[in-house]
Amino acid sequence: APVLAVVGRPNVGKSTLVNRIIGRREAVVEDKPGVTRDRVSYDAVWNGRAFTVVDTGGWDPDARGLAKSIAAQAEIAVQVADAVLFVVDAGVGITDSDEAVVRILRKSGKPVVLAANKVDDQRTEAEAYGLWHLGLGEPIPVSALHGRGSGDLLDACLAALPETPPESFTELGGPRRIAIVGRPNVGKSSLLNQLAQEDRVVVDDASGTTVDPVDELIQLGGREWRFIDTAGIRKRVKTASGHEYYASLRTETAIERAEVAVLVIDGSQSVSEQDMRIIQTIRESGRALVIAFNKWDLVDDERRYYLDREIERDLVQVQWAPRINVTARTGWHIDRLVPALERALEGWETRIGTGQLNSFLGRLVAEHPHPVRSGKQPKVLFGTQAATAPPTFVLFTSGKLDAGYERFIERRLREEFGFVGTPISLEVRPRE
Ligand code: GDP
Repeated sequence: APVLAVVGRPNVGKSTLVNRIIGRREAVVEDKPGVTRDRVSYDAVWNGRAFTVVDTGGWDPDARGLAKSIAAQAEIAVQVADAVLFVVDAGVGITDSDEAVVRILRKSGKPVVLAANKVDDQRTEAEAYGLWHLGLGEPIPVSALHGRGSGDLLDACLAALPETPPESFTELGGPRRIAIVGRPNVGKSSLLNQLAQEDRVVVDDASGTTVDPVDELIQLGGREWRFIDTAGIRKRVKTASGHEYYASLRTETAIERAEVAVLVIDGSQSVSEQDMRIIQTIRESGRALVIAFNKWDLVDDERRYYLDREIERDLVQVQWAPRINVTARTGWHIDRLVPALERALEGWETRIGTGQLNSFLGRLVAEHPHPVRSGKQPKVLFGTQAATAPPTFVLFTSGKLDAGYERFIERRLREEFGFVGTPISLEVRPRE
């Protein structure tokens, strides 16, 4: 889905507006500097079009002051987004700290939607139109609090986003889309260099407006693959490098644009919190996954022993992902990546026929009925695979299922049909 990044000073009402856009109240917390959020991107739908909202507000390079902080937001936004929503408090107008933002946005060439927030009455509406002089186009008066103007604003945002997503999965025959992700220094760029060798084509953003080349097309195993946001891997962006918020934002948007993620883990080091957070992001995205344990040249028997324990303990949620051990530095076992990617994508796109699925479910339920709960025994009545990529199953039941029983069904689905390399989504619809 195309990405809309929201930029603005704290207190201009950015969070309220983001909540309006994504249609949820609880999703975005209060706009406090220094508050690190788990998530920075949210899925939204308007008029039947899906897009991703990225809230840059979590960016807080604390010591460097507000002006720098919001300028940094803008830099991130123009790098990751297809369009930028710039939120200004109409009552306050443009402050000094906004000036740098305006320059960055104008220079980027990205489409910008200018929202003049807190327009709760006629007088502020007049002030809102004063924002024309910024050269960012027509200011759209809104009141995030009352919801006023938010329909118009969403229309404007959609108009600014590319009509068809710059790259859609359904577009058959296009190169498969891969995101290489992992914490810093695990060897992502070494891996990319090994894969690319000489055969490297840099692809500009589809809109043609970006300064940054983003993706690379690489020929591997007889076909072309599109590696997403390799600029983020190859270039250490000065202003923002090293900041974890920036890294996770870049990771999220890369995964969002990809079909399959390659999670690179430094095999010579303990699996870390940061690795687990990235795994969580991948799981939430519903993308296919391959795990590459890199720096295998540094893994001795003792480390191997502990790594196996860590895999059992920390990677249990993604035990379905194909794992490969590689040494990116020398290219050892690099050739195992493509087969693993192909298996993961195959699992991701597997479709089970309704007849086949229900005969499996019938057998399963007969052999292992749901446990009785306060006198009731929910039954699985009928199932269907509603979607692929990732495989999504809808189960119609006579009552709510235990979480444990849902996990059991998922496990058996995997045993029966494979689904290597892909998460499975189960939706239970109790008929109560
Ligand atoms: P990135 O931040 O994830 O892109 O990591 P880099 O590719 O920049 O690698 C970080 C460091 O790890 C560099 O010093 C690399 O030379 C080193 N490195 C990468 N892959 C390997 C490997 O397979 N074995 C060893 N021993 N070092 C590696």
